Amino acid sequence: GAAAAAPPPRQYKLAPQSELRVEVLPDSPLRVRLVAGTAEIFGTELPPEGWVPVPPRSKIAIFTWHGATVELDGVSESEYTSDETPMVIYVNTHAILDARRARARVAAVQGGDLEASQGPRVIVVGPTDSGKSTLCKMLLSWAAKLGWKPTYVDLDIGQGSITIPGCISATPIEKPIDIVDGIPLEMPLVYFYGHPNPSINADAYKVLMKELAKTLEKQFSGNAESRAAGMVINTMGWVEGLGYELLLNAIDTFKANVVLEKLWKMLKDAKPNIDVVKLHKSEGVVLRNSKYRQRTRSFRIKEYFYGIANDLAPHSNIVNFSDVSVYRIGGGHQAPRSALPIGAEPVADPTRLVAVNISTDMIHTVLAVSYAKEPDEIISSNVAGFIHVTDVDIQRKKLTYIAPCPGDLPSRLLIASSLTWYEA
Ligand code: ATP
Repeated sequence: GAAAAAPPPRQYKLAPQSELRVEVLPDSPLRVRLVAGTAEIFGTELPPEGWVPVPPRSKIAIFTWHGATVELDGVSESEYTSDETPMVIYVNTHAILDARRARARVAAVQGGDLEASQGPRVIVVGPTDSGKSTLCKMLLSWAAKLGWKPTYVDLDIGQGSITIPGCISATPIEKPIDIVDGIPLEMPLVYFYGHPNPSINADAYKVLMKELAKTLEKQFSGNAESRAAGMVINTMGWVEGLGYELLLNAIDTFKANVVLEKLWKMLKDAKPNIDVVKLHKSEGVVLRNSKYRQRTRSFRIKEYFYGIANDLAPHSNIVNFSDVSVYRIGGGHQAPRSALPIGAEPVADPTRLVAVNISTDMIHTVLAVSYAKEPDEIISSNVAGFIHVTDVDIQRKKLTYIAPCPGDLPSRLLIASSLTWYEA
């Protein structure tokens, strides 16, 4: 049938401190243009001229501090304006963090100790759909706009924003986050957990957090600039039971000194020595159910290989079983069948490395390519990237995969996962 007729381009005149909220469809392009005034999307200013394509499926707010006219072109799922936003409180929070960064920098110049020269390590906590990722983006972009290079740490293995799900990662943010390209991916530091849910192997999750923190600590101690800029840490939306325990663990592991709580006030008593700030959620934050989340995870994997706008072409390759070694981190009954070792009972040690037989169960799963030189370094090593298994030929002992880059794998040590993506 004929596609729905696209509405003509339309302009919105936004009053100071109001926003235009737009939900973009999965496969209908939408673009936005600043006509007059100034406006930003989650902390990143719209350029004064030209159309900006808004990525498919995104849910955005075009906010203006001083008033703006913006124009939309294309079909959207929804679009409406609102002047009720928590932006003033958010920007005040940013100002407090900024003052702490400046203080840390002065301390560094005056030869102060590591403690005094450490800028804010902000951790954002709260239930799912409370707008944690969005707040992180704003704090990072506002800081970067002032010339700071804060480190973004993403501990959300379910809906992470740096790379594919199942990872905990960190990356320096050197300029406001690009509206189209998102978080920069030149040099992310990625540790692979391999599942979207921490309860499958919570101990491994903790160990990986420790490894990431250790690496960042090392980088910070040799870099006063990053140290003063500090960290913005995004967390999972699971705030009860084990989820709560993991949050407390994350605060300790990354030595967070500011907690921003969204819709929640549980940490106040648990962490008496840390500044805890309670922040409201924007009414614009879009609720996403578990099916939607599952789909988003799938899209994130697809995006890794095909690009946000389907603009990348992954490379298909074949290796002999003997050319690679696949390992799984720890035991646990919920591990996928494909990850079970040859004739072995599920192991009890959650961080033990187990060699995995390549089988057809691995088709459609993601494998991480480790930077480790030896198998016993896998748990303490970050990963170079990911491959997606498209075929396993048991008879010929060959595994076919796609990778974002051509050529040989950077390492023969691979980590199995329960992350799957089915090419449509
Ligand atoms: P989770 O913990 O489940 O990952 P979260 O707390 O990190 O969720 P966000 O990802 O920040 O929540 O927000 C959920 C969705 O709402 C995102 O798609 C985000 O772009 C959108 N969103 C956030 N704020 C607004 C707003 N003011 N207007 C429109 N959409 C918004």
